[in-house]
Amino acid sequence: MGTWFTEKQTDHFGITAKVNRSLHSEKTDFQDLEMLETAEWGNMLVLDDMVMTTEKDEFVYHEMVAHVPLFTHPNPKNVLVVGGGDGGVIREVLKHESVEKATLVEIDGKVIEYSKKYLPSIAGALEDNRVEVKVGDGFMHIAKSENEYDVIMVDSTEPVGPAVNLFSKGFYEGIAKALKEDGIFVAQTDNPWFKADLIRQVYSDVKETFPITKVYTANIPTYPSGLWTFTMGSKVHDPLKVNEERFTDIDTEYYTDEIHQACFALPKFVKDLTKE
Ligand code: SAM
Repeated sequence: MGTWFTEKQTDHFGITAKVNRSLHSEKTDFQDLEMLETAEWGNMLVLDDMVMTTEKDEFVYHEMVAHVPLFTHPNPKNVLVVGGGDGGVIREVLKHESVEKATLVEIDGKVIEYSKKYLPSIAGALEDNRVEVKVGDGFMHIAKSENEYDVIMVDSTEPVGPAVNLFSKGFYEGIAKALKEDGIFVAQTDNPWFKADLIRQVYSDVKETFPITKVYTANIPTYPSGLWTFTMGSKVHDPLKVNEERFTDIDTEYYTDEIHQACFALPKFVKDLTKE
């Protein structure tokens, strides 16, 4: 039968993938890190028993974190990614010619090291000369930044361990301060089937901080429930009022200008999470 890896979402539900072999396993200073070679999804990064990314479906998540805010902003030049040590969001950010600098602040250097080794098609972009990689706490980095970034993307783990502060109102206020006057921020905000309270809370906190706050979704098969949410806060630019000429042709597998509009159309039970 081989070995199977299961990410348990509750005591009654999980997602499972067949594993050919373990490529690496260690307890880092921050979390349990595992790199698995799976039978279906290619190499898979697992942190604290939760799937972070797989070679086969990573493009959905990384494109949707990066391109929705970057096409909403009319001229993004300076971009920050908090977390995201696998490099996938940075790879997508670099597809935008306007971007002059992309900074990655990842707390766990081991995630970067083993992503470069076992996920080269994802992490290779970290070597680009427009990229600065900092190993440190994203919360502290935000606290020190002011009026600096056009777009900030929070590609974090779930709100456990080192990522707890990245889901706090104080963090979103810090992000607003770190952004320029027409800046945009987006964070991954988990799934609406099992994490409804989290999405409701993040939406409410972001809405108190940003004039334009919206939730959008994407379909990601290796994340629990498959339906994933992202929450965007924008000071000026509305993602649903983007000039069509803004959409330039970049190489993607999931994101299109039509998806840009459609991803904000929420199923009713998800839309209800954004009501007061
Ligand atoms: N796409 C994934 C998901 O939604 O399951 C998450 C990607 S994973 C690369 C997220 C990264 O956030 C991890 O490498 C983790 O080390 C990092 N991280 C967690 N807390 C952090 C913090 N306070 N500052 C910077 N990075 C952090």
